[in-house]
Amino acid sequence: MHLCAEHFFRVRVPPPPALEALLQFYEENWLSEGYESAEEEENYKAYGREMLTTFWEIHSRHFQMPLAVEKLFYIDIGGVKLRGYIDRVDKLESGGLSIVDYKTSRELFTIDDLEKDLQLTLYQLAAEQLWQLPVEKLTLYHMRSNTPVSCSGRGPAQLNDAKQLVLDVADKVNRQIFPARENEFCPCDFPEYCPYYRHLYSGETAETAVAGAGPTAIGGDAVERYASLQAQIKALQKELETLRQEIIAYCQAEEVSRLYGPESEITYQPVDIAGFKEEEVRAFLETEGLWERVTGLDQSKLKQLLDDEAVAKDIRDRIQSLRQIISTQQRLLVKKRQNEDKET
Ligand code: SF4
Repeated sequence: MHLCAEHFFRVRVPPPPALEALLQFYEENWLSEGYESAEEEENYKAYGREMLTTFWEIHSRHFQMPLAVEKLFYIDIGGVKLRGYIDRVDKLESGGLSIVDYKTSRELFTIDDLEKDLQLTLYQLAAEQLWQLPVEKLTLYHMRSNTPVSCSGRGPAQLNDAKQLVLDVADKVNRQIFPARENEFCPCDFPEYCPYYRHLYSGETAETAVAGAGPTAIGGDAVERYASLQAQIKALQKELETLRQEIIAYCQAEEVSRLYGPESEITYQPVDIAGFKEEEVRAFLETEGLWERVTGLDQSKLKQLLDDEAVAKDIRDRIQSLRQIISTQQRLLVKKRQNEDKET
């Protein structure tokens, strides 16, 4: 799509190419790789044709010759040399410049994306250096929906921040400090240098990795063993919980507090937890105008209130009287049986 937009605007004199010529250029430059089936490829191709037709209709209506298309630039920022291409530069009637960057991303960008877009900021720096004219308009052009989103040129503060960022990044690159950040396009072309992919590409994932040969000599077998142990622990925890519930249910039904195995014994111990029911405390404290003091029945704030001698004693006693068993914890205490127990 980039190439087609470039082809449309890269004319020596108006008019731009006719729609048929543009669509033919599109067909000739279509790349068939990367599609899962012929049907998928055809769907994408038809979608592209539609986009391009709308693009042509919009831009041929009031066609204006751009100042530059796919403009190669080199800029020097404090000794750091940057090279890139600007999709399109137009000259505005005011005499200033307008920069357009085509995007084929799925989602339409927000005004925030536009205002923070570093690429556009660098393009502005490059264009102003190249033509010695002010950039007055920056546009991200969403190809899929043929939507331009524009803002005015960056101010001096944002341009300076971008320069500083370039210097900082260059400094880190020089000092070999560039932490890997995974993203949707990983792995890139340098997986052997990446901490996330180096192991995969080093061959150490094979079971042949020599244990003890160094801190990185952990093979794929160790990874599999770890994953397998973790899965076993999860399965055992599930089994343990099921058995625990069965034992508790049995103890409750049979009214027994201890169960014996050949080696171990388990004591069943229900433990009552005392506290306050929010609805009761709230109903009471609201009538006394004190509910705000414990916001959402914050237990520590409630305790502060109970300790606060400035609050009338009968109120504090009334709150205390609302204290009740609010839940019961079921505990199972496991221990080894004593020798003599086993003998009886
Ligand atoms: S694979 Fe490449 S892009 Fe992805 S995190 Fe590693 S180095 Fe960065």
